[in-house]
Amino acid sequence: MRIPAIRQKQSRCSTGSALYVLLAACLLCAVVAFAHTPCAQAAQHRTATSDGRQVTSTPRVRWWTLSTEHFNIHFHDGLADVAHEAAFLAEQSYAILEAEFGDAPDMIDLVISDQVDMTNGFAVPMADCITIYTPNLRWSDVGNTKNPSWLEALLFHELVHEIELNQVRGGARLARLLFGKIVMPNSIKPIPFIEGLAIYEKYKFLGESRVSDSRTRMMTRQMAIDDSYPAFEETSCFYKRDSWPPSQLLGYNFGSLFIKHIEEVCGHDALASIADVYATGSPFSASTFDRAVLKALGVSVAELYEGFIDSRRLEFLAEVESITREGLTPAVRLTNLGGIVESPTWSSQTGLVAYANHSSVRSGVRLIDPLDRSDREA
Ligand SMILES: [Zn+2]
Repeated sequence: MRIPAIRQKQSRCSTGSALYVLLAACLLCAVVAFAHTPCAQAAQHRTATSDGRQVTSTPRVRWWTLSTEHFNIHFHDGLADVAHEAAFLAEQSYAILEAEFGDAPDMIDLVISDQVDMTNGFAVPMADCITIYTPNLRWSDVGNTKNPSWLEALLFHELVHEIELNQVRGGARLARLLFGKIVMPNSIKPIPFIEGLAIYEKYKFLGESRVSDSRTRMMTRQMAIDDSYPAFEETSCFYKRDSWPPSQLLGYNFGSLFIKHIEEVCGHDALASIADVYATGSPFSASTFDRAVLKALGVSVAELYEGFIDSRRLEFLAEVESITREGLTPAVRLTNLGGIVESPTWSSQTGLVAYANHSSVRSGVRLIDPLDRSDREA
């Protein structure tokens, strides 16, 4: 494993200009998000202090830059340890994803800051910029308590977007030379092929993600019990959905199961093949993506989705039957902390349940003993 060469220097930019870069990134992100790109969270620039780690709005905060082979990592005082870990993880992930998709930008800006109250990140492929928010320093992959590193999961996710959405081939490569990064055909795709793809790639290379978390399995098991599955179109964009699950869970979580199914039935290079074909085409034809999938895999999106639903029905009905056969126990409420409580994972070794909890007063992975209800931070 290659250790990245790191050079650190104080950024020439003041906090003000660093924030300008961040604001510019947010604006670009809003534009890209309109084209169905990643997980943007609105930045809240505020003065805040918390256990000595964050002072974000004062002009006295110094910004620093670490440089590695493919990243300029910008961070402010208090985040040097995170930035150094990010330098290693970013280069490691870059090597994996460059091999996965065939090409990657030469240099990427990675902004690490402690400016909002929730760990999250977003990528702006047009600007080759990824931003990571660090306030909790521990919540991994929005709820999968089995993922050992929140930073690795978050960085890998955003780097999938940065590298996969940036792919251009053939005529699109020429068009990019003429018109710049506005030529980004991969950014105009159904949500499962953007967010579901990022979640599946994490599972494929890191071992855990929302593909394998208990909430996704519970959601899909309930669909089997109800014999009610969403049409592909219901998973393919974000909208206000009257029934459960919300469109975001369909696009991200259920979408990642669909992407996993595609690779299982079409081969390990199926996703890269789709990217290869689609990255050559015009992004302005609504049918282009369907044609790209048909050309790359010899099967249509509709046929793939039909096969996916059939196989999920069989898998989860068998799981329902197995659970029922073992005997159902009465439901017992275990948690009382409020906020978002999700993705429980029971350990047969310790007898404890790990779960994700996020609220305005605390956030992270917690452990609860089902017998005495004791509840503590992991
Ligand atoms: Zn995303």
